[in-house]
Amino acid sequence: MSVLDTFRHKDLDALRVGRFNLGINTSFIVYRLQDAVIDTGPSNQWKYVRPFIQSRPFSQLLLTHHHEDHAGNAGAIHRLTGVQPRAPEKTVEILKRGFRIPLVQKLIWGSAGRADAAPLPAEIAIGGELVTPIFTPGHAKDMTCYLLPGRGWLFSADLYIANYLKMLRSDEDIPTLLDSIRKVLGYDFDTILCPHRGLVENGRQRLREKFDYLLELSENAQALQRQGLELRAITERLLGREGMISVLSRYNFSKRNLVASCLKVKPDRYR
Ligand SMILES: [Zn+2]
Repeated sequence: MSVLDTFRHKDLDALRVGRFNLGINTSFIVYRLQDAVIDTGPSNQWKYVRPFIQSRPFSQLLLTHHHEDHAGNAGAIHRLTGVQPRAPEKTVEILKRGFRIPLVQKLIWGSAGRADAAPLPAEIAIGGELVTPIFTPGHAKDMTCYLLPGRGWLFSADLYIANYLKMLRSDEDIPTLLDSIRKVLGYDFDTILCPHRGLVENGRQRLREKFDYLLELSENAQALQRQGLELRAITERLLGREGMISVLSRYNFSKRNLVASCLKVKPDRYR
């Protein structure tokens, strides 16, 4: 498998790559807007990302978080072009020391390359337009979204992806994610640029739907817990049986992780 798609939206270029064409969770979109590239794609797709990177000059590489599909080529791009990746402070630390990834992720994305990233500048601009970085932990502890207020565009990293989450990684945290989504909903935007889903119109509305869904799932899970059900039973009742990926990942990525994290939500904070 290789390049799956390219598309253009106004002055935005997008390249979708992926080793397996099994839907949005196994492919990744590298975006280029004016003088900036946002995230890098996974290292096992470098062969295809490289010509995209080289096809036009750019002067900044912005990373949203350290995950291997987002930052896997950051070091390679730095070496190739001399453009040092810029990233949130926590991301800089993680990329410097390197990190281990589970086998299933390694199979899909390749290994996580190290990179020598620099912290974000005090003021970020793309093609002269101001960018607002929004710190949005929950999916990852270092994640940051990039908002272009002038356009109403949000580079959403992995904040959105889909309206309805069915599974969660063990290092993700729903209470933190809900806080982050609520924070982002406080800004004005209408287009989400998701590195997995692609361009999402009415993005703010879609993100609100995700927020509502997670809150409702949390309330339902907690109601079942009050009735005395255990985690596995609650999970099966609300989300059905675990699938192959859950088993293959040894429940590192599973439905029960999602429910367990929803049980920690304090719904009163949001109602
Ligand atoms: Zn991620």
